[in-house]
Amino acid sequence: MSTVNTVRGPVEVSSLGRTLMHEHLIFGYPGHEGDRTLWTYDEDAVVATGTAAVRSIQAQGFSTIFEATPNDCGRNPLLMKRIAEETGFTVICATGYYKEHHGGSAYFGMRSLFTDTVSELADLFITELTEGIGDTGVKAGVMKLGTGHGGISDYEHAVIKAAARAQQVTGAPIITHTEGGTGGPEQARALLDAGADPSKTVVGHMCGNAKDLDYQLAVLDYGVGIGYDRTGGNRLFNDITDDDRMDAAVALAERGYLNRIFWSQDSIATWLGRSWDGFRHLPGAENWKITRIGDHIVPGLLERGLTDADIDQLLVGNVASLWGQDA
Ligand SMILES: [Zn+2]
Repeated sequence: MSTVNTVRGPVEVSSLGRTLMHEHLIFGYPGHEGDRTLWTYDEDAVVATGTAAVRSIQAQGFSTIFEATPNDCGRNPLLMKRIAEETGFTVICATGYYKEHHGGSAYFGMRSLFTDTVSELADLFITELTEGIGDTGVKAGVMKLGTGHGGISDYEHAVIKAAARAQQVTGAPIITHTEGGTGGPEQARALLDAGADPSKTVVGHMCGNAKDLDYQLAVLDYGVGIGYDRTGGNRLFNDITDDDRMDAAVALAERGYLNRIFWSQDSIATWLGRSWDGFRHLPGAENWKITRIGDHIVPGLLERGLTDADIDQLLVGNVASLWGQDA
């Protein structure tokens, strides 16, 4: 039996059930900490918001999320644990660092002047996966990293190498952020060159370029999974709609890649900082929410000819395969 760390302790991979592999109960861009004078953090309110989000997908038959927030973006293991205990839901916490441009790159970036940050990052990831995160008693279950536009920076390469090294020690899956529907093949190559196992690696936000089948196949050629994990945003981040995502997924399924597609929404229950209501009201953001897959994508894929067994493969079997399990 293979187990995975959840915020409430280890569980068997076969018990995860329907899983969304990239959501956020809380997220804060680095810099929000310096803007604390004009907003407040009310943990009970954050728990209530996260609990409501989780209950809305529990009602759709989901039982697990990967909470994809990296260490530098407000990750809060004990908050996740409170929400998991409140709802009986399974939450898998991540360890990792975000892309250089939007993450907290200054710290390890400066350390790289005088020390081996790949080793330091790998030690951190391994410790958080095997011993726990600080004194929280919570162990991470998955790694998260990102790359930006126009190539992979030296800093991002260091995080990639550290995650691949930590995966070789722990067997934990790696999920990623790619930017604007670009850089997927380069990121997959860098991860594999560093020693990552493609069967335990998901290149994220691939649906940001869903209309370019060659781009999808170029990444799939490396054997990695691909995240269709910004579902609900209609021309929000890219000129891509959910119809484009579903059409592409069906086209890839017809080519034998059903078992390499990982659906999620990248929803954020609570943004740290001042009000983010303006973001929620951007054109195309109205359906960017945690219930979109259950409400719209599952029926849409069935209408396009996928079967109930295919849906189970996408939402259950594919996730279990990240730990080498059939589900
Ligand atoms: Zn995300």
